[in-house]
Amino acid sequence: MAQPPMITLSNGVEMPQLGFGVFQVPADEVYEPVTLALEAGYRLVDTAAAYRNEEGVGKAIANSGIARDELFVTTKLWNADHGFSRALAAFERSAERLGLDVVDLYLIHWPLPVQDDYVETWRALEQLYHDGRVRAIGLSNFTEQQIRRLRSETEVVPVLDQVELHPGFPQAPLRSFLTGEGIATEAWSPLGQGEILGDGVITRIAAEHGRTPAQVVLRWHIELGNIVIPKSVTPERIEENIAVFDFELGADEIDAITAIGSDRRQGPDPEQFDLGARSQ
Ligand code: NAD
Repeated sequence: MAQPPMITLSNGVEMPQLGFGVFQVPADEVYEPVTLALEAGYRLVDTAAAYRNEEGVGKAIANSGIARDELFVTTKLWNADHGFSRALAAFERSAERLGLDVVDLYLIHWPLPVQDDYVETWRALEQLYHDGRVRAIGLSNFTEQQIRRLRSETEVVPVLDQVELHPGFPQAPLRSFLTGEGIATEAWSPLGQGEILGDGVITRIAAEHGRTPAQVVLRWHIELGNIVIPKSVTPERIEENIAVFDFELGADEIDAITAIGSDRRQGPDPEQFDLGARSQ
């Protein structure tokens, strides 16, 4: 099976373009799907302190027999841990749960504008980066305006922004801004949590290629240049979701899928979302 291609991030670190997401997978159930994903060829795993399953992810990685430098592990700083010293301490807890000395990519999970401390929080990630505890640092759910502010007030450029992005919410303006800044776009809920897979345009293109709707949607992301982290705990789907490197969509098909989109999010609005914030 063809391996996902590598994307070179702005700091030179390479990251697989397709990986395995583990949001909403309970701590005591995460070991098996991560193990299956690694067997199927995934080398990127996307977790977060908030998912409360870092320990199981770490065990699956440790027992996989795959060399550490072939694996790419992302985790994220939770909202309750914004602030310089809190962020440093939270990172240590995540690294310990994962059983890793160095984490490949550390993200601020949400900007939390209500608390107005993401600049200070980013400085903690910069320190972790300078100290060699993380190979790359990035953002999640940040808007163009927030990224512009970080760029003007801090030193290290985020390597990527992980945001809600799928055919139902294609985020063209943000993607274009990120590309212009040399910041990679990573799509969360790349399958729209499965809700968009019955769309007529997607099912027609899937039938024409002899592929599943999920594969067509993931291929759409890959050809747009997005990094994707589909989640499934079903063995067949785990294999299906990585088998997207032996067919291509035409430009007209890409455009037809993009045209499905609206400006309606499925997930929370980053400008409002403040779950776990200390200022709540
Ligand atoms: P997703 O778009 O990956 O959809 C997952 C769901 O789609 C599954 O639960 C299943 O119901 C369905 N599905 C998966 N494969 C399928 C297939 N082949 N055929 C049919 N249905 C299929 O949604 P997600 O889990 O929300 O997002 C993926 C990952 O993104 C998460 O696991 C997490 O790592 C990350 N994420 C990050 C944030 C953030 O704020 N940074 C938010 C949400 C998710």
